[in-house]
Amino acid sequence: MANKTFFVETYGCQMNKSRSEHIAQVMVQNGYHLIEDKKRADILLFNTCAVREHASEKAISNIQKTIKDLNKISRHPIIVIFGCMSQFLKNRLVQRVPGAQIVIGTSNIEQIPQYLEEYTRKKKKILDFNLPSTSQVFDERGYLRNSSQIFTFLPITYGCNNFCSYCVVPYTTGPQRSKPLLTILKEIEKIIQDGYQEIILLGQNVNSYGLDLGLKNGFEVLLQTIDQNFHDSSIWIRFLTSHPKDMRPSIVDIVKNSPLMTRYFHLPIQSGSDRILAAMNRGYTRDHYMGLVNYIRQTLPDSGIGTDIIIGFPGETERDFLDTLDIVQEAQFEQAYTYIYSSRSGTAAYQLPDQLPLAEKKKRLQLLNQTLSDIHQIKLKAWVGKRAKIMIDQIEGLNASGRTTDNQRIFLPNSNLFLGQVISVVVINTLKGKLYGELVLS
Ligand code: SF4
Repeated sequence: MANKTFFVETYGCQMNKSRSEHIAQVMVQNGYHLIEDKKRADILLFNTCAVREHASEKAISNIQKTIKDLNKISRHPIIVIFGCMSQFLKNRLVQRVPGAQIVIGTSNIEQIPQYLEEYTRKKKKILDFNLPSTSQVFDERGYLRNSSQIFTFLPITYGCNNFCSYCVVPYTTGPQRSKPLLTILKEIEKIIQDGYQEIILLGQNVNSYGLDLGLKNGFEVLLQTIDQNFHDSSIWIRFLTSHPKDMRPSIVDIVKNSPLMTRYFHLPIQSGSDRILAAMNRGYTRDHYMGLVNYIRQTLPDSGIGTDIIIGFPGETERDFLDTLDIVQEAQFEQAYTYIYSSRSGTAAYQLPDQLPLAEKKKRLQLLNQTLSDIHQIKLKAWVGKRAKIMIDQIEGLNASGRTTDNQRIFLPNSNLFLGQVISVVVINTLKGKLYGELVLS
C-alpha cells in the first residue's frame, strides 16, 4: 500500500479535527501520502459526528454523493468511515453507504493502515464497532501541521462520564480516560519543537481531568505543571471545554497567575432554567453557574466567557425559555453557540414527552440569537479605543488578523507581519460584527 494517497474529511467538533490530524499522521508514518484533492485520492477517510441528527444526515448524503460522483469519472477509492456516527449507527450506516469498504467506530482507529492492508488482500468489507476500553488513550506521536500553522489541539481526556440526558457522546466515545500527565508534557514539548505557538487542551470536560487516574483536582495539577515547565512567552495555552459542574475557582486563580494561560473560558450553560438543567442531568443550577461567571469576571476582568445553549429541550416552557434569555443578559457572554435540540435515539431525553414543534423552537432560537447579537454589538463598540495584544494567525495579502488572549479576533493591515507574531494593537473601528485595529509601535 506504500505510495498510495489519502484524503481526510472531518465533521463535527474540535476533538474530531484533532483525531483527523492524528490519523493523518498515523497514515503518513505508514507510508501513505496526504493530498488535498479528494478526486485524486486512492483512499478517502471520513471522520464523522453523531451529536445532531441534521448534521449526521447531511454527512451521510455528502459521503453518498462523493462516492457517486467519483464512480461517474471512473474513480473507485477505498472508502473508510469512522468516528462517532459510525459508532452510533453501526450496521445501519453500512446499509446506507454500501460503497464503503471499511466502517469502524471510535476505537481501533489507529489500526486503519492495517485494515487497509487487510482489505486490499482479502477484498472483504471490514467492520469494527468495539467501544474503546477504559484504558485506551491515543499516543499522539506528533501532529501534521493544520491549516492555521499556529495552533493545534492536544486531547488530554477521551470519552465522557456525564451522561447529559440529550447527548450521545458517552455512548459513542466510552468512559472518560485521562492521558497521563507525563505524556501530555512530552507532547507539549514536541508541539512547541514543531513550531506551534498556541496549544488547545481538549476534553469533553477538562475540569474532570485525572479523576479516572485517582487524581483529586487533577486539572489544577496539570495546569500548574505546564506552567512550571514551559516559560516561552510566545506560547499560549487554551483549554476546552469547561463543564460548569466541575469548574472550580482554583482553576481561574491558576489562569490568573500564569503568563501561558489565555483568558478565555468556554462554559456551556445549555439552559437558564433550573427545571430544564435538572432534566438535562447537567448537575448544576443557574445560581451555581452565575457564581462561576461572577468569580471569573471579578478575578480576571479582561477575560472572555463563551457558552453553548440548547433551545427546545422536551418540555421547555415559555417561562423556561425566558429564564434562558434572562441568564444570557446577566452573564453577558462574549461568545455563544446556539442550537435547536436534536433528539437522539438511545439517550435518556429521547423518550421524554412534550417534544416541541419545530416552528416554536425556531422562533425561540431567533429571539435568543437576536438577544446575543445585541449584546455582542455593545461589546464590540466598547472595544473601540482599547489596546490589546494579539497573536497573528491569518495573513492574506495586505490583510492580517489575530486573536487576543480572550479570543477576540482583530483585523489590521499587513505591514510585514508574520504568522505567530505577538503584537500590540489599538482598536479603531467596528464594522459588520468585526473589529479593526492598527499596530501600536511602542
Ligand atoms: S459533558 Fe454532557 S454534553 Fe458534554 S460530552 Fe459529556 S454528556 Fe455530552
